Amino acid sequence: MHSCDTFIWHGTSNGHYTVKSGYYVARNLLGKVSPALDYRAAIWSRLWGASVQPKIKFFLWRVRHNILPTKLNWQRRGIPIDDACPMCNGTESSLLHIFFTCPFSRKVWELCCPWIMDYLQGWMEEVNFWDCVLEEASQLGTLDLVAYNLLWSIWPNRNKSLHELVCKMPSALCAAAIRRVAEVVASSI
Ligand SMILES: [Zn+2]
Repeated sequence: MHSCDTFIWHGTSNGHYTVKSGYYVARNLLGKVSPALDYRAAIWSRLWGASVQPKIKFFLWRVRHNILPTKLNWQRRGIPIDDACPMCNGTESSLLHIFFTCPFSRKVWELCCPWIMDYLQGWMEEVNFWDCVLEEASQLGTLDLVAYNLLWSIWPNRNKSLHELVCKMPSALCAAAIRRVAEVVASSI
C-alpha cells in the first residue's frame, strides 16, 4: 500500500464510517435485515399503528429525530437563547437532560419506572438511544406508560414551566400517567 493511499468508507457519502452506515452495509451484505433492526422497526411500526393521538405519535417521531424545539436546537439555528433548564436551572444540554438526567425527570422515572435508571448509562453510549428505551419498555410491557404517557407528559410540563411558570410535581405527572394507562386498559376489556 502506497504511503499516500487511504481507506475510504463507501457506506456514507462523505467517506466517514458511522455505526449506522455499518448496519446498513452489513444488512445489504447479508441480504437481510438484522434481528435487532427488524425488532426495532417493529416497535416503531407498533408505535405508529397504536391507537393514540396523532400528536403523540408525531411527538415521539420528533424526539427520535431530535427535532423538538429545545433550547439547544434553537441555538443551532442561530437563535440567541439561554440554555438554562426551566426545571432545574442547570444546563439544558440535550434531549437526554430534558427527558432523563434533569433532576425533575429523574424523579418522575424513579417514581414510575425505576428500572429505567438501571439502563440509562448503558443506553447513553448507544447510537440508537431511543430505540433502546422503547425496546426495553416494550419487552417489559410498559410501552404505553413510557412512550405515550411519561415521555409525552414531561415535554408539555417543561414547556409550561418555561412559558407560563407553571409546573406539576413529578408525583402528579406519574399519577396522571398511571391513571391514563389504567383507563385505556379498562376500556379495552
Ligand atoms: Zn433540568
